[in-house]
Amino acid sequence: MPSVADSSVFVLIGPGGVGKGTVARLLIERDSHLWLSRSWTSRSMRPSESGSEYVFVDRPTFELAVAEDRFYEWAEFHGNLYGTPIPSPPAGMDVLLEIEVQGAAQVKSRHPQSTVILLLPPSIEELESRLRARGDSDDHVHLRLGSSDAETAIGREIADFVVTNHTLEETITEILGILDSVRQSRD
Ligand code: 5GP
Repeated sequence: MPSVADSSVFVLIGPGGVGKGTVARLLIERDSHLWLSRSWTSRSMRPSESGSEYVFVDRPTFELAVAEDRFYEWAEFHGNLYGTPIPSPPAGMDVLLEIEVQGAAQVKSRHPQSTVILLLPPSIEELESRLRARGDSDDHVHLRLGSSDAETAIGREIADFVVTNHTLEETITEILGILDSVRQSRD
């Protein structure tokens, strides 16, 4: 049975609003050997979401899965629980996780050969305008900006690569290049 031990694990981190979700989706479209893990969360679904973004569960259900050791990593972020189920990618596929920094630190200690890529905004002003553009409330924008320095500082400590998200196309090209170089050094 295929398991994560046979795959490369790539972890995409970065402050909220930097564009991780969009980048992750495009990487999956462009790299046919990349498998995106679907996380669990205890947060409620946003009106803009279809239900496929996460496995949405209530907090007791999430906590039971933690107690049963069913997560590869998990963390509490802004009052909600998020976790990656133990990955089981199809044979020959590498794993992509799009998660926050506490979880990435767990992955790195569990699987030191995993590759952590930190995605940064061109500037704080740009991050703020991206958060506002996606319709986040003032409170939410401030919450996100308030934690972005800490996320970036911890991210820099554990990241193997740092990529600045100037334009989507440049970012995707740069990350695909990173994936190629990591795979070549593995093979
Ligand atoms: P959101 O609520 O905006 O979808 O996600 C909030 C944060 O949780 C984002 O930084 C996202 O990358 C992160 N996240 C999503 N899934 C997971 C997961 O499985 N584990 C961890 N540790 N963080 C996650």
